[in-house]
Amino acid sequence: MSSPLPVSTFDLARDKIVLASSNAHKIQEFKSLLPEAEQLIGQDALKVPSPEETGQTFIENALLKARHASLLTGLPALADDSGLVVPALNGAPGIFSARYAGPTASDTENCNRLLSALSGVTDRRACFHASLVFLLHADDPDPIIAQGHWFGEILTQSQGTKGFGYDPLFLVPELKKTAAELPESEKSAISHRGQALRRLTDSLAARYPQ
Ligand code: IMP
Repeated sequence: MSSPLPVSTFDLARDKIVLASSNAHKIQEFKSLLPEAEQLIGQDALKVPSPEETGQTFIENALLKARHASLLTGLPALADDSGLVVPALNGAPGIFSARYAGPTASDTENCNRLLSALSGVTDRRACFHASLVFLLHADDPDPIIAQGHWFGEILTQSQGTKGFGYDPLFLVPELKKTAAELPESEKSAISHRGQALRRLTDSLAARYPQ
């Protein structure tokens, strides 16, 4: 007996996909982690403005970004939302990670705000979270969702110069190094975004077999 046909077709290597991000660093990172997606196009190149991130959770924001980009381009869309979750701060900075110290805050300002918030706090556990969403079209009722978590601890001062965001404060206990001391390939092999991307490609391959 032949196997059932997939309900729709999509080819990661052949079809255009809009990446719902205007961040050049992120677009480059996705392209290098998803080399099979040859037609991944950043939303800026398609004149898609960033929508307001009104969700209360990472996944809500990733969904609304993907839906917005797909609606405006008519293309399948990939979106991510990520951030740092600190249980001792009730989950902060969470979905506000990029703007923890203000709407135009730099990485250094966000890190300094985190250090102040954790001053005197002994529970330094933290987790980087990444939610990824793939929508075949804006009305797709069945998005592919993939998430990743990377557990660590927040140091009392910065260490390392690589990476971005909270990397210099994020200690990976089993490596005794911060995320800012890891080469990009080593970080991607274990990071929240790397985990989520590998899960997403597996799910895409299962959903849309070639
Ligand atoms: P997004 O672009 O809305 O997903 O915001 C992500 C924010 O979370 C970034 O601006 C960083 O502050 C933080 N963040 C997410 N992933 C990482 C990471 O891998 N290292 C350091 N900070 C990160």
